[in-house]
Amino acid sequence: MPKKKAAPIQSVKGMHDVLPEEQLIWDFIIKKGRSILEDYGFLKIDSPILEQTNLFERSIGEGTDVVDKEMFNLKTKGGDNLTLRPEFTASFVRAYIEHGMSAWPHPVKLYGIGPVFRYGQPQGGRLRQFNQLNSEIFGDETPAADAEQIFILCKLLNEIGIKNTYVKINSIGDKSCRSGYIKALKDYYRPRLKKVCPTCKTRFKKNIMRMLDCGEEGCRAVSESAPQALDYLDIECKNHFKLLLEFLDEAGVPYILDHRLARGLDYYTRTVFEIWSEDEQINFALAGGGRYDYLVELLGGYKTSACGWAMGIERIILAMKALEVKIPESKHNPKVFLAQLGDLAKKKSLVLFEELRKSGIPIQASFGRDSIKSQLRIANKLGAFFTLILGQREALDGNVILRDMESSAQELIRLEDVVEEIRKRLKDK
Ligand code: AMP
Repeated sequence: MPKKKAAPIQSVKGMHDVLPEEQLIWDFIIKKGRSILEDYGFLKIDSPILEQTNLFERSIGEGTDVVDKEMFNLKTKGGDNLTLRPEFTASFVRAYIEHGMSAWPHPVKLYGIGPVFRYGQPQGGRLRQFNQLNSEIFGDETPAADAEQIFILCKLLNEIGIKNTYVKINSIGDKSCRSGYIKALKDYYRPRLKKVCPTCKTRFKKNIMRMLDCGEEGCRAVSESAPQALDYLDIECKNHFKLLLEFLDEAGVPYILDHRLARGLDYYTRTVFEIWSEDEQINFALAGGGRYDYLVELLGGYKTSACGWAMGIERIILAMKALEVKIPESKHNPKVFLAQLGDLAKKKSLVLFEELRKSGIPIQASFGRDSIKSQLRIANKLGAFFTLILGQREALDGNVILRDMESSAQELIRLEDVVEEIRKRLKDK
């Protein structure tokens, strides 16, 4: 009886491998992100994936979906409560305080890239492990900082190839205007609670602003006529928002005011925004962010205004695929394949490979294979322009066969001339 095959183990729900063929698009996005952010003076920071649970409870806030339902929490053997980061901002604020960045010249501009974890219901563009590019500016309370962040984000998406984007934007005011607004929301929703979903009934008690951007049809109908935060802004918040919109007008960034945009996390003040595509196939936010003027203080630092954004890389890839965005080919696509036959040729081919690699010629080989036919098949599959064939006889005579993969023409060349010859011929391809 054949031995029973062990059941294969699957990846965790909502978490994906990024396969070799997808690496090119990932590198492309990350390189673009790094390059544009560094041009604007942002410094890269890597923070740990695990943080103390109370970092997120204190910043994002209890009563939010992220903290109440979506955190991956664990308890260490030593009894510490840790959480896989559900976002970057709180970690960056912690790092800003922990490393005394308040003493650095301001504004302090930081960016980071990496995985974040949210225990949501995986569907469409929603994953449980996804990657964000994240950008923050500390120590600039002016709307110029909000505008810079939004402008950079739109430029980045444009350079990535996602052209027709627009900004949904709102101001939710600061501490001084919030209480009046919350009261108005309570007065509005209280008599309408029968019409909203069960989650929104809980939100009414815990996080009423989240009722505004609930996606349920019934809730959307109710929130349509809900009081608008803009009507409750004090004069400073109003001016801040007005100036920000003027900056965006001047920079030619398209935006729409969305009075239902609240963004669900407790720490936001004044500006909140999301970037969307005008293409109807892309029915999710590409990126989002806002201002958080009290968070540094809340987490134990000095009062420091700040604003930032996060862009989901998997969502960007989905959008690029939907829009059929073409990205430049990898420089590392092998232009030359090295095939060998016989023991001596096998030994010599390692040295020849290294010589070609060091000369910057994109090359691949399959050192262990014996059949020329199968090696040529691989060369074809890889799209190599030339195959170098090193057989027993050639290895002994100091020659190598150069095969043009398109015409199948073959000629003998001296081993010492091979780098020069390949260089010359690749120029014509
Ligand atoms: P947020 O921190 O929720 O504003 O998310 C910022 C960005 O991360 C969003 O605009 C999306 O691009 C992306 N994102 C958020 N949640 C998910 C998720 N569950 N799966 C994939 N991408 C996400």
